Amino acid sequence: MADDAVLSGGCLCGAVRFEVTPPTKWCAHCHCSLCRRAHGAAFVTWFGVERPQFAVTSGDGQIAWYQSSATARRGFCARCGSTLFFEGERWPTEIHIALAHMDGPIDRAPVAHVFYDSHVSWFEPGDGLRRLGGPSGNEELEPD
Ligand SMILES: [Zn+2]
Ligand SMILES: [Zn+2]
Repeated sequence: MADDAVLSGGCLCGAVRFEVTPPTKWCAHCHCSLCRRAHGAAFVTWFGVERPQFAVTSGDGQIAWYQSSATARRGFCARCGSTLFFEGERWPTEIHIALAHMDGPIDRAPVAHVFYDSHVSWFEPGDGLRRLGGPSGNEELEPD
């Protein structure tokens, strides 16, 4: 894959399709309770990209937004319920996209587990990646 090849993704039912022009900015696994509940999963793997590098190519009208906190909202397909996007005031220039919705690999791999102090007790990552937490979700944790 060329480094600048456009990346595509979509929701379960196919109504929402979108494209991302690399480079992306980061990729990490989030274990926060909001991500877990929104996606019904032990954690959610996100990547971030600057807004101008993201485009909805079909189904823009199908995207519903849920205000999940005072400073953030989550976008999902109103037809099939796929939880697709995150936007927050902490990252005002970015959109965050759930990696599992991409059609193929992106230009980087996940580098850390964030908000790891909120992780579920029934899944243990075995990937050796850094586990971060604290109020920002992104600070070094004491080994437990
Ligand atoms: Zn859908
Ligand atoms: Zn999260």
